[in-house]
Amino acid sequence: MERNRQGNRMESKEYYRKIPKVDKILAKPQVAQLETLYGKACVLEAVQEELGNLRALAGEGRIEDMEVCLAALEERIGKRAEEKQQFSLKPVLNATGILLHTNLGRAPLGQYQTDAMVQAARGYCNLEYNLQEGTRGKRAVHYAEEITRVTGAEAAVAVNNNAAAVTLMLSALAKGKEVIVSRGEMIEIGGHFRIPEVMEQSGAVLRETGCTNRTRISDYEKAINENTGALLKVHTSNYRILGFTEEVTVQELAALGKKYQLPVLVDLGSGVLQNLEEYGLAHEPSVQETLAQGADVVSFSGDKLLGGPQAGILAGKKAYIKEMETHPLMRALRLDKCLTAALAATFRAYRDKEQARRQIPVLSMLSRTREELKRQAEEIADAVKDAAAGAEIRAEESTGRMGGGSLPGEDIPSYAVTVAPRTESCEHLMMRLRSLPVPVIAYIREERIFLDMRTIMPEEKELLIRELKMCLTDREKEI
Ligand SMILES: *Cc1c(COP(=O)(O)O)cnc(C)c1O
Repeated sequence: MERNRQGNRMESKEYYRKIPKVDKILAKPQVAQLETLYGKACVLEAVQEELGNLRALAGEGRIEDMEVCLAALEERIGKRAEEKQQFSLKPVLNATGILLHTNLGRAPLGQYQTDAMVQAARGYCNLEYNLQEGTRGKRAVHYAEEITRVTGAEAAVAVNNNAAAVTLMLSALAKGKEVIVSRGEMIEIGGHFRIPEVMEQSGAVLRETGCTNRTRISDYEKAINENTGALLKVHTSNYRILGFTEEVTVQELAALGKKYQLPVLVDLGSGVLQNLEEYGLAHEPSVQETLAQGADVVSFSGDKLLGGPQAGILAGKKAYIKEMETHPLMRALRLDKCLTAALAATFRAYRDKEQARRQIPVLSMLSRTREELKRQAEEIADAVKDAAAGAEIRAEESTGRMGGGSLPGEDIPSYAVTVAPRTESCEHLMMRLRSLPVPVIAYIREERIFLDMRTIMPEEKELLIRELKMCLTDREKEI
């Protein structure tokens, strides 16, 4: 026993001697080349980590693993350095079938939108400069006309997100006054957006009316008093009340608002501009129809069904929009030049229905037929089948969802590549999918991994094939 232990200690000393010195490694041309690519500090860190790994292996007496690492030392250092260069925020493949996945950044932008964004970001631009007069200009001009043209609103202003838009709207139009809201519309959206709390923040006073399942126009009228500042309707974006229900229409509210000279505000949540029935989905109130029905101000998100950048848009009557534009909060909530550009491009695309379908990825993805998705699933399944010795691959029917607190309970028919691993658990394979160079986010159903095609765009197909092959064949142990 004693001799044995001493023997090991002797051997491990021997192992440690095999580990090269830092300077020697850094002097190797292959490693020196990495420095020009990633910088000195990064490469040094990678070398030290790799040496630390070797020391750990030596300590455990894992001579074979050491040999493997030493043989590929420069390569391993290169890989580590490259990994260090990566940002925490990076692209992923969304194979969840959830189009507006809040955790995956909601609406992806297309080339048309990002080109506008990049152009504004690089160098200088006339963000607040009037080129004709050579004087200070307003940043809202760049998107406001695009928005009013598509929505038919008199005026528009945009802020950071819809939560900010609602806060600004209430603050500017009803601070210190009561705002009447139906008890059926006391919503909470993920990430701490709750109507009572937003109301409190804005300085307006919540005045609830009606019941959870039924609210009539007479309930609103009864709640009106001399301290009433506005009537608010909130779209129940992420839930439905079914059964014995009644809600007040925007028209009814608009008539009541007119009678008592109160602004009628509508938080629409998702900014639908096109008829979703054309995409095989249920009807969602659009911005245009809500304004046409008499809403004074409508607020909605830029990155939900609109398919644009994160933003909150307020569209409606000129006098009210002006109150918001000149409100002190506006300075804290205004859009930067990149978002201004992306938002303008998004609305510009909506001028033409077909243009919108092509240039706005959320709409393009929604437009794809189940046949197309089936074909894509089959192509991918065929391409990776041979590589996947340890798993069963199929193409099968699936259902996607809108997500992002839109169209609750509505399934979107889709197709998926499904994987049933034989040599590992689904959870383990999911973890390996997430650690790919471009992480793949999928879901598990009935002991199979589903890779939904609704959210895998045609241009992402080849990348997904490459990655799946890499993942399904690469089962070497980690050293
Ligand atoms: C999503 C939503 C919000 C919050 O919008 P963000 O853009 O996420 O800030 C507010 N109200 C309703 C009705 C919503 O659906």
